[in-house]
Amino acid sequence: MKLTVLGAAGEVTGSQHLIETASRRLLLDCGFFQGHRAESREKNSHFLCHPKEVDAVILSHAHIDHCGNLPGLYKAGFRGPIFCTPPTAEIAEVMLRDAAKIQREDADYLRRHLSPAQDRAVEPLYDETHAKAVCELFETIPYGKLEEVGKDVRIRFLEAGHILGSAMVELDLEEQGVWKRVLFTGDIGRRGLPILRDPQLSERCDLLITEGTYGNRIHPDAGEQQQELARIIGQTAARGGRVIIPAFALGRTQNILYYLNDLHNQGKLPRIPMYVDSPLSRELTQIYMRHQHEMDVALQRIRQTDENPFSFPGLQFIRTPQESASLNHREGPFVVVASSGMCESGRVVHHLKHALDDEKNTVILMGFQAQHTLGRRLQEKRSSVMVLNKLVTVRAEIESLTGLSAHADADDFRWWFGELAKRGGCGQAVVVHSEEPAAEATAQLVAHASDELPIIPKRGQRIEF
Ligand SMILES: [Zn+2]
Repeated sequence: MKLTVLGAAGEVTGSQHLIETASRRLLLDCGFFQGHRAESREKNSHFLCHPKEVDAVILSHAHIDHCGNLPGLYKAGFRGPIFCTPPTAEIAEVMLRDAAKIQREDADYLRRHLSPAQDRAVEPLYDETHAKAVCELFETIPYGKLEEVGKDVRIRFLEAGHILGSAMVELDLEEQGVWKRVLFTGDIGRRGLPILRDPQLSERCDLLITEGTYGNRIHPDAGEQQQELARIIGQTAARGGRVIIPAFALGRTQNILYYLNDLHNQGKLPRIPMYVDSPLSRELTQIYMRHQHEMDVALQRIRQTDENPFSFPGLQFIRTPQESASLNHREGPFVVVASSGMCESGRVVHHLKHALDDEKNTVILMGFQAQHTLGRRLQEKRSSVMVLNKLVTVRAEIESLTGLSAHADADDFRWWFGELAKRGGCGQAVVVHSEEPAAEATAQLVAHASDELPIIPKRGQRIEF
């Protein structure tokens, strides 16, 4: 049997791995590459496999770097089933529709600013019809159920605890009478955080494909970060300022709402207006609300006295661009949560443009800020930054709260790989979805659970198992 790593090799986007037996070609994830425009476009528009020859896709979760190129795969001829958990199917439908819309809007914008000769470079990779059609191929399997897909393939999804619906994929494959097990972690979440259940443990496997995003870091304590959040909002409100929280619409925004709701219930939040400025976040939060029964004990406890742990009095979801723009001229204090998380696009950019030059205001950065993004420049405390082609002096306070990450850190990996080792370990470990130092650190952590030396593959690398 063969694994070919088609993406997320030495980087944290473009998750895509091909598993081949004599009779099967299965794709684990089909994510978008994100980053520099030209390079990502090149990678996203050329599959390293033949989409028409792929029998099925198995999707770990609905973050766009794991599912974002499914419509592209459809456009290139793929028509097989896409297996995932029920919440992942719901969320992916919303995310893919949104991805197609963003591409169309970006292309329209660029076309107005480029010559006709440059037009081809801005064509969307796929459109809304491809996004809609590919979602018809979803076949859901509940967590824990062993699903036979023909005589030689079995799939089981384990809780990954990363976002709603996220799963580790346990894949049993038969070739010439021999069964082998592949375990693909997708993105692993953390232990002991509220909302989602902890990542499940796995039994012995022949091939482990593991992520390693934060294999070289230890996250700060989430409880302390929540108290920091209350302190920052309280202090900014006291001086009449605005709090701008850039946040990804999926996962991060729901976590922030949960923590704000909890602080509200404890009486630790000032009574000021709070806004979520993202129609996408609103739709995704509704899916979270519908799946509350599948969440952890902490959330079930809260539900006994608070039927909606993602909302509280004073919280409003902004819908139209006009409502969003009106916040720019509104007097503080108030809080606004808007995407994107790295401040590169979306409505948050407009909020920053109008808020950064006032020392009363605060920006709270909560996620990983990649190089060359506005979020990274703010995190570096630059005295001025370019926002929407305008140089803005940064007088607002910039705070970083990175302890609410949805990714496992080195301690979580140590625990999870340790438990795997106790259950027989794996034949071969392969570390993907991490940049250089984190990949090396993850490889060291997983080494004692792996019979062979862990591999940090290059894109396109083939591994026999
Ligand atoms: Zn993810």
